Amino acid sequence: MQLILFGPPGIGKGTQSALLVERLGLKHVSTGDLLRGAIRGGTALGQQAKAFIDAGRLVPGALVRGIANERLAEIGYDNVILDGYPRTVEQAEWVDEDFAAAGHPITVVVSITGDNEVIVERLAARGRPDDAPDIVRKRLAVYAAETAPVEDHYRQAGLLVTVDGEGDVEEVYGRIVQAIESVLVER
Ligand code: ADP
Repeated sequence: MQLILFGPPGIGKGTQSALLVERLGLKHVSTGDLLRGAIRGGTALGQQAKAFIDAGRLVPGALVRGIANERLAEIGYDNVILDGYPRTVEQAEWVDEDFAAAGHPITVVVSITGDNEVIVERLAARGRPDDAPDIVRKRLAVYAAETAPVEDHYRQAGLLVTVDGEGDVEEVYGRIVQAIESVLVER
């Protein structure tokens, strides 16, 4: 299964990914983690990405596609969770193409939904440098303008299921697994 976990910053994609990895044996690909790794490693790509991340803006798509595909070439395109990728309709088209070309098309897109105020509070508690309230608001604005349309892309493709992201971690996990099962059964 090739799963895209979709939703606004701070909705819990990382937390839920960790459970899906542990319990379903999927491989986790987070472009945010990959970019932060590149920054820590002091690579040219990391240096380019840093200013965008610090400002709460999207890193240029070609860089993100490159770093994601580099990892996917190592671990394989099968049985993965994409977390934080794709984040624009253009990236979604690339993902669709790249996974189809690898012979493992996207199986399902789980969109986790929730309230912006809850998100700002959760992120302020987490304390990453780009989690400062003004940067979070910028990220939420970027999400609304550039990332939210990705939902429609996958709704039209018949791959989208939505899940309520409020409540405790296990509750949300249960909803995600149920949503995935319902899609797989329908096919
Ligand atoms: P969150 O989901 O909480 O926003 P991420 O770790 O996924 O956190 O992303 C952190 C930052 O990394 C983003 O604000 C953005 O600058 C950059 N980033 C991550 N993934 C992408 C992507 N697919 N396209 C462009 N920028 C990205």
